[in-house]
Amino acid sequence: MCHNIIDGRYHTECGHFFAMDTSRYDCRKSNCLFSREHVHPNNCRSSTCIRLMALPIRNPIRISPTVCAECVSKGRTSGLMNEGDTCKV
Ligand SMILES: [Zn+2]
Ligand SMILES: [Zn+2]
Ligand SMILES: [Zn+2]
Repeated sequence: MCHNIIDGRYHTECGHFFAMDTSRYDCRKSNCLFSREHVHPNNCRSSTCIRLMALPIRNPIRISPTVCAECVSKGRTSGLMNEGDTCKV
């Protein structure tokens, strides 16, 4: 299955991730609607074709051993972070 790869900066202190660029992983399957190898036209109605993309994968191309600017402005420090509280751009 194809999925998006989100390149971005990861702040290890607060655990926030900021997207910088998005690219596409191509699974190269002939029965996947999102692949360049898909053999049917764009309006393919084949029930055997994959028509869902997998969840995007985060690819931290920059690692910052600090809290992000948003957390700095909120005055949060590393001891106060919430699990699962992530920044979305
Ligand atoms: Zn695919
Ligand atoms: Zn198809
Ligand atoms: Zn943060």
